[in-house]
Formats: sequence, structure tokens, C-alpha cells
Amino acid sequence: MARTSDILVIGGGIAGLSAAAELSKNARVTVLEAEEQAGFHSSGRSATMLHYALGDRLVRALTLASRSFFEEVPTAFGDVPLARRMPVLIHAREEERHALDALHADIAPFAELDRLDAAQVHRLCPLLREDARHGIADWNGLRLDPHAMLQANLRVLRANDGELHTGAGAASIERIGGTWQVRTEAGETFAGAILVNAAGAWADQVAQLAGVAPVGLQPKRRTIITFDAPPGTDLEHLPFAKTVNDELYFAPESGRLFASPMDEIPSDPCDAQADEMEVALAAWRMEERTVVRVDRIHSRWAGLRTFTPDGHPAVGFAPDAERFFWLAGQGGFGLQTSPAMARIAASLIMQAAWPVADVAEEDLGPARFLRKAA
Ligand SMILES: Cc1cc2nc3c(=O)[nH]c(=O)nc-3n(C[C@H](O)[C@H](O)[C@H](O)COP(=O)(O)OP(=O)(O)OC[C@H]3O[C@@H](n4cnc5c(N)ncnc54)[C@H](O)[C@@H]3O)c2cc1C
Repeated sequence: MARTSDILVIGGGIAGLSAAAELSKNARVTVLEAEEQAGFHSSGRSATMLHYALGDRLVRALTLASRSFFEEVPTAFGDVPLARRMPVLIHAREEERHALDALHADIAPFAELDRLDAAQVHRLCPLLREDARHGIADWNGLRLDPHAMLQANLRVLRANDGELHTGAGAASIERIGGTWQVRTEAGETFAGAILVNAAGAWADQVAQLAGVAPVGLQPKRRTIITFDAPPGTDLEHLPFAKTVNDELYFAPESGRLFASPMDEIPSDPCDAQADEMEVALAAWRMEERTVVRVDRIHSRWAGLRTFTPDGHPAVGFAPDAERFFWLAGQGGFGLQTSPAMARIAASLIMQAAWPVADVAEEDLGPARFLRKAA
């Protein structure tokens, strides 16, 4: 016997859970997650920042539209803070100054920025080497708490009679008599009129299971290491510091530092593991750009950032299947854009007013990839 809901969501990461929470206000929603816990893949492995140096105009607009959610969390989501302030410093060497000027101009419409000279750069981040000569600071950057975000969305989903089933990997998906029927690897069957594909790196595979054309997703691996800061470092006031070009970022993390070499290694969908090459690169770039010596790596992990061919998310009904909804391709910005993306998904599914004025429906619709393929 199939367990029936209005909407089935495949994927219990931040995309699936935030959309499910939003949809559950007006529909009976069930989320199916393959792993034993929500957020096991990308959503639990990120750098957890909200900042505007990521992506392009569309990504920044989605980020700006999401920001107030983190600062004034709606009551239904509980009283646990989902974010805290952390300044963002983008720094540049002399020869990188033009790249900093360009990035400054790109971000300025979205955030209040201060231009910093060399002395100000080093005051904000004393760990940087002397050759960091220029900077821009966004004092209102946010450090997100993905665990709290997942739990807050789950709380809303459950309060609205929705369900999350873990250990429920979709093994087959069929459209039978106007409903989607999903059979899990454990042999259970779930049914729903609408299927939301929020399967992260696996979203193309889930589409193919349902007989829907893939949009051409490419997961890319990114690595993070943690290690001790030099004795006496004022970790509490350190910013999230990023090179103007995508080479290195670092920030304080639970009494230590974390850093990423901003690697983007194409990967199949998988349980991503840190590779020794990228771990070594992270340590090397940290020592190249800062005065920190990475003598001992405390921990390391990797996760997948999954991109569509144009780098913008795919959000909308599939043009080639009935009531099959895409919510994929959140790349490296899926946490910070999740509130706006959830509202957009709910507005399209519920045929409600479009919620983000600066973003057009066509820019996100999956049809753009199928037109190109044709
Ligand atoms: C190192 C790193 C740094 C990052 N830094 C940031 C950052 O600073 N800010 C930011 O906003 N974003 C950041 N990101 C990106 C962000 O983490 C992702 O965009 C976001 O987590 C994607 O969420 P998701 O729900 O789509 O994917 P996931 O969290 O991967 O969730 C997809 C889920 O679908 C499940 N699934 C797959 N197939 C099936 C199936 N057949 N049946 C049932 N379930 C299935 C998977 O098990 C998985 O749990 C970073 C990512 C990484 C890896």
C-alpha cells in the first residue's frame, strides 16, 4: 500500500527541507532522504557563509532576498539563531587590484562595502602576509548554522503534519494514473501528485529514474581542512578572509581555523572524500598567503557543489513530464539562497505570487537546458 501525500520531495538536504517546510503550509508533504540523517551530503559539509563574492548578479539577488530570513527568523522556525555576524574580507595583492575593483563594483549594489588600505586590511586580519595590500570589507557577512537551519525547517514541516523519512532512497519512480509513485530501496512505496527533485548531486540521476531528461548537472568537489591558529590569535574577531581570485578562503572554526583551496574537481555524485592533493594545496596556499604555519591538520573533509551548465539553479516544472519539479544546481550558494529558493519553489507549485522581484522565472526554469539540447 502506498503512503500518499500531496507532494513528495526527494532529498533531505537544505534544498529539499526548506522547500518542504514552505510547501507544508498549504499541502501535505513527505520528504524522502536516502541517508540515515538529513544534511549528510553537501548541506552538512559547507563553509557555512553568506557573502556576495559568490556567483553572479542572479546569485547575489537570491542571496539578498534570503538575508532577512536569517536575521529575523520567523517564529514558526523556532528560537535558535540560524546565523551570526562575521565580517567578510576580500583581499588582493598589488597586481590583483583590478580584479578587486571589478568585484567591488559587482557587489556594491547588494551590500554596503568599505574599501580598505593595507593598514586596514592587516588590522582586520593580522594573519595575512604583507603582500595583501588592498581589501573590501562587508561588515555584515553572516556565518550560517546549517544544522540549526535543517532542524528549523524540519520543525515547520512536522508542525504542518509533514514527514521526513530517512533511509528512504528512491529506487524507482513512475507516473501512474496521475500520481508519482516512488519505491524506496527498503521496499516502501510513497505516492504524491507532485514530485520535487531536490536530490543535490544526484538530481540528474533521479530525473532519469523518473524518465525525465537530465539538465546536465556537474558536481564539483571542494575540500576543507582545519588546523590550529598561532598562539594568541584573537579568533573571535577574525573575518572570513578570501583572496580576490578563487584561490583560498579561511575563517575561525570551533577554536581553530578552517581553510579551503577553493578546488573545483569534477566528480560523479558520491560520498565525497578529501583528496591528499587538495589537502596539501590548502595548507600550502594558507602558508603562502598568511603567516600561519600548518604543522598539523586537525580534520579534513570534502563535499560536492553541483552546477547546471550556466551556473544558475534549475527551479521549475520539467517541460517534458507532468508535475515533476526541479530544485537543483545550487552550486556553492545553496545554504545562503535557500530561503528565497524555497519561496520561489512554493510560489510556482502553489501558483502564488512570484516572491523575488529581481529574479525572473525564465532565468531559473529547467526548460532553458532542454531548448539548448534540442
Ligand atoms: C566545501 C563546500 C563549501 C560550501 N560553502 C558554502 C557557503 O559558504 N555558503 C553556501 O550558501 N553554500 C555553500 N556550499 C554549497 C551548499 O552546501 C550546497 O549548495 C547545498 O548544501 C546544496 O543543498 P542540496 O539540498 O541541494 O544538496 P544535499 O545537501 O547534497 O542534499 C541532497 C540530498 O538528496 C539525497 N538523495 C540523493 N539521491 C536520493 C534518492 N535517490 N532518494 C532519496 N534521497 C536522495 C542525498 O542523500 C542528499 O542528502 C558549499 C558546499 C561545499 C561542498
